[in-house]
Formats: sequence, structure tokens, C-alpha cells
Amino acid sequence: MLRFCKIFPVLYLFLSSVLCFAQNDEKPFVQNFSLEESYTKNNEWYWKKSKPFADYWQQDVHYNIQATLNDSTQIISGKEWLVYVNNSPDTLKEVFFHLYQNAFQPGSYHDDLYKNNKTKAIYGKYEKLGLNTFVKDVYVEESSRRILLRTNMNNTILQVKLNKPLAPNAQVKFYLEFDTYFDNGGNVRRRMKTFTHNNYKHFDGVHWYPRIAVYDAKRRWDTDQHLNKELYGDFGSFHVELTLPNHYIAEATGTLVNENEVLPTDLKQKLDVKNFASKKIGDTPSVIILPNGTSKKWIYEAINVHDFAWTADPTYRISEAKTKKGVRCIAICQEESAGGWQTAAQLTAKIIETYSADFGEYTWPKIVVADARDGMEYNMLTLCGGTSPSYTSLFAHEVGHMWFYGILGSNETYRAMMDEGFTQFLNIWFLEKNRKNVKSDLTIVSPKDANLYYPYLRSAVDASQLPLNTHSDQFYSQIGHGGGYGTVYYKTGTMLYNLQYVLGDSLFQAAMKNYYYQWMFKHPYPEDFRNSITAFVKTDLSWFFDQWIETNKTIDYAVKKVKRSDSGFYNITFSRTGRMQMPLDFTVELKSGKKISYHIPNNYFVKKTEAQVLDPWIGWDKVRQNYTAHIKTDEKIVNVLIDTTYRLADINQLDNSLKPYNKLKFDNLKYQPVNNRYYQEYWRPDVWYNAVDGIKAGLHYEGYYFKRDHFISTTIWYNSAIGETDNQPRKEIFMDYVSFMFKYSNPLRKIDDNLSWYYDTRVLDGLGLIETGLIKNLKNNHSLNLNYKHFVRYRERDMTYLLYPELWNVNKRNETINLDWTKKYNRLKSSGQFNFGLRTSGPFSDYNYATLKPELLHNINLGKLQFKNRLVGYYISGTNVAPESQLYMAQANPEEMMDSKFTRSRGFVPEEWLGFGESLNHFHHGGGLNLRGFSGYLVPAASNDTVEISYRGFSGAAYNVEMDFSKLVNFKPKKLARYFFLATYLFFDAGTIST
Ligand SMILES: [Zn+2]
Repeated sequence: MLRFCKIFPVLYLFLSSVLCFAQNDEKPFVQNFSLEESYTKNNEWYWKKSKPFADYWQQDVHYNIQATLNDSTQIISGKEWLVYVNNSPDTLKEVFFHLYQNAFQPGSYHDDLYKNNKTKAIYGKYEKLGLNTFVKDVYVEESSRRILLRTNMNNTILQVKLNKPLAPNAQVKFYLEFDTYFDNGGNVRRRMKTFTHNNYKHFDGVHWYPRIAVYDAKRRWDTDQHLNKELYGDFGSFHVELTLPNHYIAEATGTLVNENEVLPTDLKQKLDVKNFASKKIGDTPSVIILPNGTSKKWIYEAINVHDFAWTADPTYRISEAKTKKGVRCIAICQEESAGGWQTAAQLTAKIIETYSADFGEYTWPKIVVADARDGMEYNMLTLCGGTSPSYTSLFAHEVGHMWFYGILGSNETYRAMMDEGFTQFLNIWFLEKNRKNVKSDLTIVSPKDANLYYPYLRSAVDASQLPLNTHSDQFYSQIGHGGGYGTVYYKTGTMLYNLQYVLGDSLFQAAMKNYYYQWMFKHPYPEDFRNSITAFVKTDLSWFFDQWIETNKTIDYAVKKVKRSDSGFYNITFSRTGRMQMPLDFTVELKSGKKISYHIPNNYFVKKTEAQVLDPWIGWDKVRQNYTAHIKTDEKIVNVLIDTTYRLADINQLDNSLKPYNKLKFDNLKYQPVNNRYYQEYWRPDVWYNAVDGIKAGLHYEGYYFKRDHFISTTIWYNSAIGETDNQPRKEIFMDYVSFMFKYSNPLRKIDDNLSWYYDTRVLDGLGLIETGLIKNLKNNHSLNLNYKHFVRYRERDMTYLLYPELWNVNKRNETINLDWTKKYNRLKSSGQFNFGLRTSGPFSDYNYATLKPELLHNINLGKLQFKNRLVGYYISGTNVAPESQLYMAQANPEEMMDSKFTRSRGFVPEEWLGFGESLNHFHHGGGLNLRGFSGYLVPAASNDTVEISYRGFSGAAYNVEMDFSKLVNFKPKKLARYFFLATYLFFDAGTIST
């Protein structure tokens, strides 16, 4: 007996009695399953007929499952016979089964992972009770006896002790019964699912039956708990009889044995997707088969598969196409999607033909693409979604999995790169082959860049990235694709394009095909892939695979200099600043426009190339960081470009040509795609106004490389005096006629991967400012910002800009050194940050003071309401405190007001809103103690016997609360939402200040 859940013994007893009853009712031992006997004889792809190496072995499995779906209780009940053949050299005393669905219940390993990632798992009615896949007893069948086995359940792993040891080459037949519960009440993404649409129920039966774990030569038993990542299974045969309510249309792994019975020609014609071409999403589906309380049995058989999945929906409509080699490509969609699924079967055939031609033949008889609100692969079956043509990439991905996951059955839980990465590569391969505009235009972001290179190049510079050779559950134990898990997709895909670059196109494809045929219907690990490619190419590739799979080293080459030597020769010097070595392709552009290609191998292997092959550049890391190519030419070299095929995944391509590229564009404020091939620059006009300068007509410029390096943002204004209200005499060009601001920031990766610096300078609205600092990001969202800042208002005229001129001194340099430590946090229902700021005056300052400021911002998310808290303390001490940097009771101090274009000068905020007096005013700029009730109010403060009035001070503390209901009551004009919106909130502030 198995206890599936310790907390519910009563329910468990109830269920077992139901099952015992059911068992007495049926005829035992009816199975004379023939697939397993014919499996090896008639199977040309059986692994023993083409072992990858002499002593390779893998286990064989033969499943026979009879299952019935109750669509109202949403339970599928099954009986499972499994013949298990031990081909290993070991004698087995126990076996293990995966009950994947048990991951989705309270108290599971997966549940624990959710909790520790501060994510709330909500469970449906069955899940709450721990009802996922329930296995009652496990037996061994021997002739006409059933022997009950001892079992031990640990969440998703069921350990089964054999009644007697299973010797090498012996086999055993298991029998078990199970119930698997479909639940749609939770929030945890489950692939096995049901949903209702237009009053019809849809079912996806995946990872739904007890599946024996793989016993392989590398790891022996695979007992990894299921954490909603990847899967692994033994190859063999499946005979599955699925009994469904009569009106469901099903598809599944394998050949539909009784097609004539369940899908006779006349019914198939009625279900033809062409009949529903005009259907729209949400349209009521037609009734083709009336539910009548009876059921239909769908019988499927498959060989050379390692899993069996099915999908069923009363509104499935069918189309079919065949590949040139005769593979049946079946597309089934819900009737409401039929308008967008007219060519789904043809697209699938095209994908199958592309991969077959380029990477090895598809060897199963059929493939199904199903419209199932998903994106997931099973043997011969993909559960997809979307409509034409946006589903193309998803199809290309899921169908690609038939090669890597399906036919090559790697342990993807252990190394997800083996299926997800290779599949992502095929996915992009298909999109690249079928893209319309394949101009060699620098500005076009191709599918390869968008889906592989850019995500890879962005993450490659992050020192915390784990190498590809990481267990899929161990990417910092994050859920979903967090923790750098995405790297298994895009880094692997990028690696394969780089392998193509290294080997040359034809050898790469031949080696990939060889790997596929060598490991077809077997279980390759990363080392098997490496060995296969190396053996085929017959050269050392350990330098390549070690770098890409075992490390997070990056590629960075540069064209360093080009120099004419005496007699019609040029010396072109390249440098390698990244730690990864690769061979180098480069192109020389001559003055006449002629282009010549060269290739520098990095060892004695030379790829097939049209380029002129130069001496090898042997070196890595700190060994031979430079290389000089000696090029014969009488013509002037105008440019040198590294790898014009853009496959070399160089993290910084700005230095990959003699002349770095940049492109200046008008900034239309729309989203601009990022590009790694040139420096992106944008300009736009900028108009502002203040009371002293009048209308400021300006030009704004910003630039960056790959939205990662060399950020520049600068604006320069001509102060027209039009509309000025001050009549101040104008004398100096800078300050009076021209204002500007300039900002630059860049990472300092050469020193530290998490360090960057910035420089900020302004001559604007009477203020001259310089600030420069270092930002260091530490682990766990901690960061440090150390900066030097100084600013001054030189002249009396510069004071006239100020909203509060009396709060600033003329020609006094306020120079400070500041250190801020910030910790950000994100919890289940709250988020915020703690900041601790220290400031001291610099050596050339006209003031002398120090500030200490702890501040906590804590937001509590109550659905549509945001509960915002701020706790702040100030301590300012010194003999000479700058008035603009003091603590203000109701608002930001004048120094902070300089950071906002609205408050750095008069002219925007109406004058009558300003000033301090005996009544409140309308103007408020957040900051200081933020006691909003005192805006513009001179607060009487009792000290001893006298009453002083004030609005600023030196130390204090405050607590500010806001109940923000902007999500309930909001005003966000669509087009202007970026600039204006109305926040609605209630606030409460309390604080104390000492003057
Ligand atoms: Zn995938």
C-alpha cells in the first residue's frame, strides 16, 4: 500500500476501498501484449543494432496502459503493465518511478522552492488534498500470479523494492493502477491541464502515468525530484487504450490503430479544418458529435518512444499534410482557432523537411501539432497555441524538439542544454532560412540576433552566470527561467553557430548529422556530443567545448592597428582581450572598394574556406594576446572588419573594425531595437522655459553601445530670453546665453564585472555642477555608490533662478564626498529598499558639515491598493552647514530640487504657490521629512519659554504613509501617460525636527 499523503488518512482509506472494488470487477491478466515481442525484431532503429560504442547499453521498456477519462470529475484512471528489460551489467534490487504531477501539491519539493523564492503557490481543490497521481499498489506479474511489492513514496519519486533481484538481461513485468487528477484551480503552471472554453472541456494528458526512471551508465538511477523543469525517459514501446467520452477528438503519441473506427472518413470530412476557415476566436463551435453518455476507445501504438502523451477536445478540427518522405503531419485546432490554422499542417511538414535535410531524417511515422494553449514537446506530439503566422517560431521550436529530446533522448533534467539549447538552435535555423529580407544591412536585427546572440551577449558579461554544464534545477534554485537558466537556450544555440563558424558550414552539418544518427534513440550526455563531433572532425576541439560548456569566458577581439610597411605590404594587428580563443575571419576593404577575406586558424585545423589562410594564432588568455597579419597589397587599406558573417559571438563589436560604426537617427520617442554592430545615437529637439532664460531652445542627444556600454546623454540649450519675466542683464555665453547638461556612464568590466562609473556635469539655470562616482553592485541586491559632487552659484544673477533665493548663498562652493549603501528587496506581497547615506564636506568646500541619513521605503501590495511607507532619519552636524543642503520639514531641500526640471528654476511653478508663511500652499516637492501638511507653512516650535517659527532644521525623523488608489481612480491620458498622470492617494505624515 502506498500512502500518497500523510495528512489525509481518512480520504486515502476511502479511495483505496473504491479502487479495490473496481479491481474485483475486472478480468485480470487479459494482456497478451505483442508489441514488446516484435519490438526488437522488426525495429530497424533498435539501439542494439547501432551502438554508439561497443559497451554501450540502455534499458528497454514496454508499456501497456488502459485508461479512462471521467471528464466531469476530471480524473483519469488507468491500469499499467510495464515490461522492463535490464540490459545493464548490474543486478537490480529496486526500481524507481516518477510521479511528476505530485510536484504540484502543498509540501512538495517544488512547493518548497516556490516558498523560498517568495512566490505564493495557490492550489486547486485536488492539489490541496495532495491528489495528483495516486498509485495504489505495485505488483510483479509472474505467469498467472501477482506479487505485491514493497514501496516507498517520496513526493514525485516512488521507490519499488523487487521481490527478487533482476539479473542482467532478465526482464520483469510490473502491474499497477493509478488515478491522475486534472486540476485547474491553482496558479502553478502545470503542463498536464484542463480548461473550459465555450462550455467545452479541453484535456492535455501529459506526464500523467507512473513512468519508470532511467537507469543509465553515467548516473545509474535517475531519482531527481521533479521541479517543473525537464524530463528523462527510457526508449521502448507503448500500447495505450484511452477511453474518452464519445464526443472528444483525441491525438496522441504513436499510430492510431483503430482510426477507421474512431475517425471514419465521413467524420473526418466533417472535422476538416477547411470547413471552419471563417471561424473567429470566441465563436460558438459547431456541434459535430453529440455527447450521448457513451465512450470511445482510442488505441495508439508507438515504438522507439520514451513517453506517451495525449490531448483531447470536443472542438478539435483536423488537417493533414505529408512530407516528401511520407511523414504524416497532423494539425488539430480548436474550432475557434480554425481561421488561423488553415496551413498549420503544411508549415509543420516544411519544418520537418528542413531539419531532415540539414540535420538528419525524421524517423517517426507522424507528428502532431495541437492548439492547446501551450508550448511543449512530447514524442510525436507538440502542444502549441497561437495562430498563423505568429505561431511559426513556436512550431519550429516544438517540432525541433523531436530531434533533440525526442529521437535523441538526453537526460534534460541533468543537462537542459542538450534538448533546449539544440532545439533553440534548430528553431532559429528554420527562421533564418525562411526570412524574407536577408540583406546584409547592419541595422536589421535577425532572428538569430534577437533570439540567440543578444540574450547571450547581454548575459555573457554577467560574472554570476553559471556554465552550461549545470543541472537544470540548480541555476541558483530559481523558479521558471530565473537564475540564468535561459542560458541553456541561447548560449547553447550561440555555441552551435560558433561551432559552425569554427568548422565551416559543410563539415559542421555533416558532423551534426553524424551525431544525430549515432545517438538516435539513445541517451547522449554532453560528453557524448563532444566525443562524437571530435571523432568525426578528427581534430582536437576540447579548447572549444571546454570554453563554451564548462566556463563563462567571453570572446573579445579587436582590430588594433593597420600600418603600411615598406614594399606593398600592410601589417594588421589584432588583439584578444577576452579570455576565450577562437579562429579569426576578417575582411580587408581596399580603396577601390575591393574586399579580400582572410582566415587565421587557432591551431593546425583549417576549415574549408574561400579566404586566404594565414599562419595560425596559437594562444589563449594571457598567451600571445596580439597577432600581426602581414598582408600584401599595393592598394590602400581603408577598413578591416572581423567576421562579416556575425557568427563570432564577440561581446564588444565596436572595436571589430578599423573604423567603428555609429548611426545617428532622429529620436521619434518610439522603441528602438538594440543593435550590437554599431554605436546607436539619437537626437531630438528639446524646448523648455524658465523665468530668467525665457524659452530655451535645445538639442538633445543620447548614445549607447548595445544599451550596455558608453551611455551618453547630453542637452544644449540656447536661452532666447523670449518670454522671460526677470529682465536680468545677460553677459556670459555659458550661463546666460547657453546652458547644457552632460552625462556619461560605462561599466568598468576590465577592473570588476560589477563596477561602473559615471560623470555628470551641468551649467544650467544658474548652477555649475560636477559629479562623478563609482557604483558597485554587490550580491543579493546590495549596491554601493561612492561619489564626489561639487556645485556653486557664482553670481547674484544665478540666484534669480531659484524658487527660494534666500536659501542659497552666492559664490559658495558646496563640495561633498558621499557614500550610499542601498539594499533592495522583493517579497511575496511587499517590496522596497533601505538606503544608508553618509556625506562629508570636501577639502575645497566653503562649507563644513556632515550628514547621516537612513531611509526605508516599504511598499505593501494589497491588490488594487498600494500601501507605501517611508521611514527617514536625518542627522546633520557641522560648523557651517550649506543652507541648500539642510533638512526641510515639508519637502526636498533646494539641492534636491535641482534634480527636477520643474523645480530647478522659476517659471514653471506659479509664484503664488511658493514661499513660506502663515498659511499652507499648493506646492510640494517630495523629500526631506516630507511632512506634507506643512507645505509652505512656518511652523511654530516651542523651545523653553519662547516660540520660534521655522520650516527647516538639522536633524529629525519622520514617518510618511500613503494609501495609493491610483489603480482604482486613475487619470492616464493614453498618449501622454509617459509624461503625465494623476496619482490619487491619501497620506499621513508624522515627524520631529530640531532646528
Ligand atoms: Zn523547448
